[in-house]
Amino acid sequence: MEPSPSHPATAPVVAAVRIAPGCIVCGLCEDTCPQVFSVEASNCVIRPAAERYFPTLAEKIKRAAKECPVDVIVVDEAVRT
Ligand code: SF4
Repeated sequence: MEPSPSHPATAPVVAAVRIAPGCIVCGLCEDTCPQVFSVEASNCVIRPAAERYFPTLAEKIKRAAKECPVDVIVVDEAVRT
């Protein structure tokens, strides 16, 4: 099957996600991708077993990181081969 323009075979995929110190608990990431992010009382966490969503929700995860107002969502990407 030919890769589609929006999902080329060499597109970076999400390999890991973490929250650096400094979350202000705004809730935006959970609104964007609730399967991966969970906002708790004093910070945001990555949900247990969230890795299973990395392939299918990569765009939402990256959007959440881009829109985080304090830039504390760290997304490691790997190139799919
Ligand atoms: S978007 Fe950023 S600041 Fe807001 S809850 Fe998520 S990690 Fe915290």
